[in-house]
Order: sequence, then C-alpha cells, then structure tokens
Amino acid sequence: MPYTSDDCLFCAIVAGAIPADVVHRDDHVVAFRDINPQAPTHILVVPTTHYENVAEVAADDPSGLAALVLTARTLAQAEGIDRSGYRLVTNTGADAGQTVFHTHLHLLGGRHLTWPPG
Ligand code: 5GP
Ligand code: ZN
Repeated sequence: MPYTSDDCLFCAIVAGAIPADVVHRDDHVVAFRDINPQAPTHILVVPTTHYENVAEVAADDPSGLAALVLTARTLAQAEGIDRSGYRLVTNTGADAGQTVFHTHLHLLGGRHLTWPPG
C-alpha cells in the first residue's frame, strides 16, 4: 500500500526536508539529479507517493507509472538527449542493486551506454 515513510530518503527529498537538485516537481512526480551521477545526465524520477518498487506503482496507480515515464521523456528533451538516446533503469531488489526502496526511474544519457549492463 502507498504511504509516506518517515524513514525514507526519497520521501524526505519529496517533502523538501533533505535538499536535492530538483529539476521537476508536480503533484505526482518529483525529479532530481543523482548525487553520484553515472552519466552526464543522471536524474532520478520518483512518485510523490511512497511505493517500494515500480510494479507496485503499476498495480496501484497505472497512470502514475505513465506520469513517471512521460516526465522522464520531457526531461530527456530538456537535457537534449532525446535524439541521441537515453536509458530508463529501475532496479528492483538486492540482486538488481536497489538501495533506496522508494521506487525511481534512473534517467541516464549524454554518453554511449554499454549493453548489457553489469
Ligand atoms: P538504486 O541503487 O536504489 O537503484 O538507486 C539509488 C540512487 O540514489 C543511487 O544512484 C544513489 O546515487 C542515489 N542517491 C542516494 N542518496 C542520495 C541523495 O541523498 N541524494 C540524491 N540526489 N541521490 C541519492
Ligand atoms: Zn518514500
């Protein structure tokens, strides 16, 4: 079930309690630059509501999931990487490397991204 968690870093960023380089904010989506960027553009796109992973968003709020993707597209255009290409990544669980359990899309671009990922 969605909620706002007192112990969640990204809930705190959404609330403005922890500073971040916010590049987009509306009622449903907040986007901010990753503190440890892995590409020239590395933005985290998060729902304002706390969901642990992207499948929870899809199940509970399909239009909210679409809003995340469409915000990422708009930001890719603003960053000038929509034509050169970009990658949306969402890690789910420990083996995938998820470290913050408030779901987020990584918007990565501005350089050639290797495939497959590690
Ligand atoms: P995950 O590993 O869960 O897929 O991604 C978490 C991301 O959050 C990482 O890329 C990490 O660099 C980023 N991150 C962790 N703490 C902070 C923070 O305090 N501020 C920002 N802007 N990004 C953070
Ligand atoms: Zn949260």
